[in-house]
Formats: sequence, C-alpha cells, structure tokens
Amino acid sequence: MADDRDVPKVIILGSGSAGLTAAIYAARAQLDPLVIAGSQRGGQLTLTTDVENYPGFVEGVQGPELMEIMRKQAERFEVDFIDDDATSVDFRRRPFGVKVGDTTYQAHAVIIATGAGTNWLGLPNEQRLIGHGISSCAPCDAFFFRGKEVAVVGGGDSAMEEALVLTKFATRVTIIHRRDRFRASKIMVDRALKHGKISVLWNTVVDDVIGDGSVQGLRLRDVTTGDRRDFRVDGLFVAIGHHPNTELFRDQVELDDKGYIVLKKRTMTSVEGVFAAGDVHDTRYRQAVTAAGWGCMAAMDVEKYLEGHWE
Ligand code: NAP
Repeated sequence: MADDRDVPKVIILGSGSAGLTAAIYAARAQLDPLVIAGSQRGGQLTLTTDVENYPGFVEGVQGPELMEIMRKQAERFEVDFIDDDATSVDFRRRPFGVKVGDTTYQAHAVIIATGAGTNWLGLPNEQRLIGHGISSCAPCDAFFFRGKEVAVVGGGDSAMEEALVLTKFATRVTIIHRRDRFRASKIMVDRALKHGKISVLWNTVVDDVIGDGSVQGLRLRDVTTGDRRDFRVDGLFVAIGHHPNTELFRDQVELDDKGYIVLKKRTMTSVEGVFAAGDVHDTRYRQAVTAAGWGCMAAMDVEKYLEGHWE
C-alpha cells in the first residue's frame, strides 16, 4: 500500500485521550506517528479536575495529570509531537497533506482526534466578558471567585461538576437550568443538590449578562411564566455541552448535520485512509475511557489499512 517510504505513515491530529492512545498504539505498531497536538494540548480532560471513572486509578486522578501520564507514555515510544494547531488539511491528494502554519506534513494515513469544544450561550454580552467573569472551565478559573457568588448554566454532568468545583471557592453557586429536571447522572445530581452552597433555578434561561468590565449580574427569564428579573452574580460558568472540532475538515470528509465526523466502516471516514477517533465523531458515549478506546481502534485500523489488509 504505502510505496513511498520517505512519507511518514500516519499523522494524528489531536492530543486528548483519543489522540494519545492512538499515538501509543501506532508507535508500538512501528508506524512512527507524528502527533499534531494543538496549541492547547491535552484535550478536554485538561479542563477538568477529579476523574473518578477512568479505570486503573483507585483514588481517581486529576484530568491534567492523566493527560501528562498518557503523553509521557507516548513519548516513551518516541512519538513525535508538534504542539501547534493544524491550519489546513488536504485529503484529496495522496499522500495526505496537513499544514501547520507554513509547513506541510504528509502521511499515508491520518487519524482525526480533534475532539470537541465549548458551546456558548450566544448572549449579546457573552463573548466580550469571557475571561472577565464568564468561563467554561471551573477547574481553571474557580480560584478567581473566592468569596464571590457565581452561576452555572446547564443541567448535564458538566454543570454539576462545575458547580461542585466552584463550591471550594465561591460563597454561593446557583445552577440555572432551562427545564425542571437535570440530565446529569444521578450520582452527580445527588452530590450537587446535597451541597449546602448550591441552589437551583429551574425553568430559567439567561437572556443576557450585565456588566461593563466584569460580570455584575444576569438577566433571567422564567420560561414557564415569562417573568424577567435581574440576578446579582460575580461570575457565570457556561456548561451547556460541546461541539465537534471539525471546521478544518468541512469540505474534506463527510460530516453529519451537527458537524460530527461520519464513520463509514469501523473508524474509517468517508475518505479511505482517513480515520477518526473520540468526541470528534462520538455523540453518544463521550467519556475519557471511550475516547481512548476509539484511539486504540483507529490506530489498529490504520495498521491494517497500511498493510493492505483493510476490508
Ligand atoms: P450534556 O450532557 O449535553 O448537557 C448539556 C446541558 O446543557 C443540558 O442539560 C442542556 O439542557 C443544557 N443546554 C444545552 N443548550 C443550552 C442552551 N442553549 N441554553 C441553556 N441550556 C442548554 O453536556 P455535558 O454536561 O457537557 O456532558 C457531555 C458528556 O460528558 C455527557 O456524556 C456526560 O455524561 C459526560 N461528562 C461526564 C462527567 C463525569 O462523569 N464526571 C463530567 C462531565 C461530562 P437540556 O437538559 O434541557 O437538554
């Protein structure tokens, strides 16, 4: 299959648990992977704290630490890393091309493991205040809200986790949710609801953020009564889910209506030789351990593909 021996066998885009697991497997299969790790290496786990459900860690592990361990494990097998963002890809020609700034890297196979990014609410004053009281990462920013009052928007596991992290610093944490029940797992909901500092505003949406240089409050609306009111807080944490990081691949591989990569056969995308792993295609499980599993599968599929045993 791969007759041009000067061209690297596989480029892996992304360095979350999918990308790093793919790198470990690809390296051990002697595919000499090149990982374009991104400027914010480590993926979504670097934005979290306690990971209690990743097998192998009896007492749990911190998300950033888990990613460092995976990276070191990959480095032990002499994986090459570029800690920068891919700026464009060309999957129409072979070997495939991946550009990082002015440099083009080529490979006979590509694994896309670029994961997912934060969804924002789209409020008029939201983008302006990100970093000035608005955040999507409590583990990163909770420290700045010591002794302050904050709100978290969302009803999933992320919202519960953000709220719990914030209780370590803030005096009061209000979860604002658009419905009358959470979609988060029972254990996370129980922890949040039992916490003395956390309260919930049900059936409520945020219409805008109040504040010039920093967040001073929120414009809230009760979706059942239509009543509006201002709510004083010093910070807003947005935890309403994520979107796949697939902008780069829009005209290159098939995406579904929400922008997730469509897998055609096992981990292969609509382009033969281009594979995908983790949250960039997985709309269902989205766990660190499942992303790692996808990374493993993609690397094994690449090996078969390059050996000409793909069917
Ligand atoms: P999610 O489960 O999709 O939840 C998103 C939440 O945001 C939902 O409650 C949704 O409301 C709400 N929402 C969405 N758009 C909104 C909008 N425009 N305005 C107001 N609210 C909006 O996302 P997630 O919490 O980020 O979790 C994603 C995945 O990661 C899940 O599989 C989760 O289990 C996993 N995860 C696990 C852990 C853990 O195990 N420790 C931690 C974090 C995440 P509705 O409910 O009304 O749709």
